[in-house]
Amino acid sequence: MTIRRQFIAGASCPECQQQDKIQRVIDGDDMWMECVSCGMRKDLDAAPVGNAEAAALATAITLKPAGTQKSRPDNE
Ligand SMILES: [Zn+2]
Repeated sequence: MTIRRQFIAGASCPECQQQDKIQRVIDGDDMWMECVSCGMRKDLDAAPVGNAEAAALATAITLKPAGTQKSRPDNE
């Protein structure tokens, strides 16, 4: 079984807040996300309906095309 790993650009880890450390991992029918910084792991497709944390996480990992993010005033 081949495991595919793909970094999610622009995603922030909900645990350690590090950006660009989140990988989407696909192993056959299983899919989860991992933080390579702190080791956080979350199932993506097995979350129970109504799980607020999972919903927030899904929002957090929404792809943000490069160049469309608003710069924070204190960021540059
Ligand atoms: Zn993390």
